[in-house]
Amino acid sequence: MSDYDAIVVGAGNAGSAAAITMASKGLSVLLVDRSDPPGTKNLSGGVLWGNDLAKILPKWQSEAPLERFIQDKKIGFLTEKSSIIIDFKTKIFEENKVGHTVLRSKFDPWLAKKAREAGATVIPGITVESLVKKDGKIIGVEESGDVVTSNVVVLAEGINPRLAIEAGLRPPLQDWEVSVGVKEIIKLSPQKIEDRFNLSSTSGLASEYIMGNLGELNAGAFFYTNKDSISLGIVAPMERLRENGVTHTYDIIEQFKEHPSIAPLIDGGTVAEYGAHMIPEGGLEMVPQLFGDGYMIVGDSAGFGFSNGLVLQGMNYAFLSGILAGEAAVEAKSRNDFSSSSLSTYKRKLDNSYVLKDLRTFKDIRKVTNNKSMYTTYPKMLESILLEMLWERGQPKKKVREILGSCAADLNVGKLKTATDFYYMYRRM
Ligand SMILES: Cc1cc2nc3c(=O)[nH]c(=O)nc-3n(C[C@H](O)[C@H](O)[C@H](O)COP(=O)(O)OP(=O)(O)OC[C@H]3O[C@@H](n4cnc5c(N)ncnc54)[C@H](O)[C@@H]3O)c2cc1C
Repeated sequence: MSDYDAIVVGAGNAGSAAAITMASKGLSVLLVDRSDPPGTKNLSGGVLWGNDLAKILPKWQSEAPLERFIQDKKIGFLTEKSSIIIDFKTKIFEENKVGHTVLRSKFDPWLAKKAREAGATVIPGITVESLVKKDGKIIGVEESGDVVTSNVVVLAEGINPRLAIEAGLRPPLQDWEVSVGVKEIIKLSPQKIEDRFNLSSTSGLASEYIMGNLGELNAGAFFYTNKDSISLGIVAPMERLRENGVTHTYDIIEQFKEHPSIAPLIDGGTVAEYGAHMIPEGGLEMVPQLFGDGYMIVGDSAGFGFSNGLVLQGMNYAFLSGILAGEAAVEAKSRNDFSSSSLSTYKRKLDNSYVLKDLRTFKDIRKVTNNKSMYTTYPKMLESILLEMLWERGQPKKKVREILGSCAADLNVGKLKTATDFYYMYRRM
């Protein structure tokens, strides 16, 4: 007989959600995380959209350590000297309060505590060294020679799924499948944050940018307000970093902080934390076999992330995939069958959820986010158009058609290339 019904490796969003789902339905669950308190080294931008969390923790909005609810959402383009921003402020966000900024070093230990309260045994500070296999089935985990067994292992290791790779459950990661995220937390008093960004004591701002000032790195950036700090950072595809010989991502985040539209926003702040982490961006193509005899793979380990250059999400997919894997394990327990065919309900649930539906809908999104013109020519083109339209220089004015024509000529962009880029952007986004 196994020691536990389920062992969950990793107490991030996905692992803790799975543990809560299973433990609250009476399964015996062991949740292990390498950091102590669990999840304290995890990194996110991070805007958390909590619709899925509400399914297992209905009171999350009043109980979780949240920073500020998102009231103001900006998306924009940066060029060397300009910023072109769409500022979306809505009462609807305020009425629903589903999007919040969080700091994972506070949030993840809280979520793991909720798993403990649901009945899971939570052991932090343990790095699982390998999976244990018997007759082709995963039957448990091993650490320092000790083996603990379970009917099912839920692999929630995050974006570096070493155990799954070593056990041959998924191929090693390729450069094209991941981006590198670099983040700083900058301390700023609540008063300054509220005055500077026109916020109340609870409301917050989340901005995402396409960095048109960094050439072909295809980098994006984010800027989020917390209670008494700013979370900011950059995200760049590993492929582009390698191609461009960038080994110091620190320089990129510095360029973001020094941008003329960003520097005044962090003036007077002090850097409190710095970190870097990978992000799954390979879409549907990087999703591995998600279940097998005695195991399921959830969250970042499964490649569940969404990015279109202006929106970055993974925590919501992590929660939902964890919950669905938890439900599949509960059903498997009722059948007393943890075989691959029994656990295939996990995949069926994912197929019917927005996790795999999104990855399918946006299966070609990398062709947009990989397009170098998105990060070089088009932000400059936008800047030139706005300069022509908004800057009175004592010159004869031009019609939009002429402005577009002269911008394209100045930037040496062919009409066909532009037309096809925009057509495919329209089709793929
Ligand atoms: C810079 C950056 C910005 C981001 N911004 C956002 C955002 O704004 N919104 C959003 O929704 N998403 C964002 N994401 C993505 C989001 O952070 C991830 O999608 C999410 O954290 C995935 O959760 P997870 O539980 O799968 O993995 P993780 O949160 O990484 O958790 C994995 C856990 O497994 C543990 N672990 C790993 N191996 C072992 C082992 N062998 N033994 C024991 N424990 C182990 C780790 O300690 C960790 O706690 C961002 C990511 C980055 C890097």
